[in-house]
Amino acid sequence: MIFKKNGKSHIVYTIGAPVLRENAAPVAVVDDNIRQLAFDMFEAMRFFNGIGLAAPQYGHSLRLVVIDVPQEDSTGSAGEALLLPRMPLALVNPEIIMSSGENVSRDEGCLSVPGVYAPVARPERVVLRAQILDGEFIEIECGGLLGRCIQHELDHLDGKLFTDRLTSGDARKVRGDLDRLTRIGQTKNFRRNK
Ligand code: ZN
Repeated sequence: MIFKKNGKSHIVYTIGAPVLRENAAPVAVVDDNIRQLAFDMFEAMRFFNGIGLAAPQYGHSLRLVVIDVPQEDSTGSAGEALLLPRMPLALVNPEIIMSSGENVSRDEGCLSVPGVYAPVARPERVVLRAQILDGEFIEIECGGLLGRCIQHELDHLDGKLFTDRLTSGDARKVRGDLDRLTRIGQTKNFRRNK
């Protein structure tokens, strides 16, 4: 998927593109290049009405994600209280250091798998450790939609898509769509960002 703004082309890679299956490299230092990349990713996320976007989806195999989770959804976890008022937010080298609570199933979608929605079971809460763009380090428990969004985006950094986590029944239901999207994603001769 591609859009142009202020003379700049933004590409969000879709399933079938090899960059989505790579293990992304850590960000060595938060410099102007990383800040610019994060701002470009904010633009792309906003344009496509996403609540999260990981750098590999934007063609960069780096451990950087941007999130924009709406406040209304808060379940009151410490992470939601701290982070939701600060959206949109870029997370540098984010890690999940602990997960807790029951596995909860909820529909997910992904800008890299356009038009496909299916339930994914994930732990209710995770402890996120990350650096944010101004250099501050955070380590905080996140629940609700924020916790889910973080888990979904961090999967992208390990080359994983939400469709890898479906039950076999749900996977069967979306297989036709995934095959079709994958063919498109493989054959589109997108220029890979450096
Ligand atoms: Zn995604």
